Parts: sequence; C-alpha cells; structure tokens
Amino acid sequence: MKIPKTTNRYCPYCKKKTEQKIKIVSTGGKRGTLTRGSLSRAKKRGLNRGIGNKGKWGSRPAISKFKRKTKTTKKTNIMYTCNECKKSKYQKKGQRAGKVLQE
Ligand SMILES: [Zn+2]
Repeated sequence: MKIPKTTNRYCPYCKKKTEQKIKIVSTGGKRGTLTRGSLSRAKKRGLNRGIGNKGKWGSRPAISKFKRKTKTTKKTNIMYTCNECKKSKYQKKGQRAGKVLQE
C-alpha cells in the first residue's frame, strides 16, 4: 500500500488545516518478552549454548499447524508532523497491509 509523504489535515495546535508530514513509526516491542522463565530471556542470557542436553532451554519441537501465527499483515502506526508548528501527533491507524510504502 502506498501512502503520500504529506497531507492536508487538521492540526489541533494551530486549530486549522495545515500541511503535515507523514512518518511511519514502529509498532512497538512485544510485551513480556523478557520476563523470568521465558525462552527469549534465556536465549539472550546465553543459556542455550554449550555441549550436551540443555533441557528446558534446548531445541524445541516444530510448531504445529494450529499453533502457528495466523496474521500475515501488520497494522501501521502513522506519525503526523505539522509543518507550521512542527508538532507531532501520533495516530494509530488500523490499516492492514503487507508492506507500507511512502511515495
Ligand atoms: Zn500545527
């Protein structure tokens, strides 16, 4: 999906329609990935390295068809920056697209 670099939209700081820059911001990190006892934390600590049976931290069986991730597209988060007051407004837009490109 293609989105333009600038748009004319309402700025709540200037209280009028202004030209605003569009920037795609990251959707944020996953919550709770580095909690105690999680596999990703153990791997970051290097517990899955070495010789022999790693037990809990060793290799995992393949994820079954039903446990696999179902969503193939991501929602995009867009940041609008006003060209007049240079203030930014973040808006979570629920647009699902495989890849978001800026024109
Ligand atoms: Zn403004």
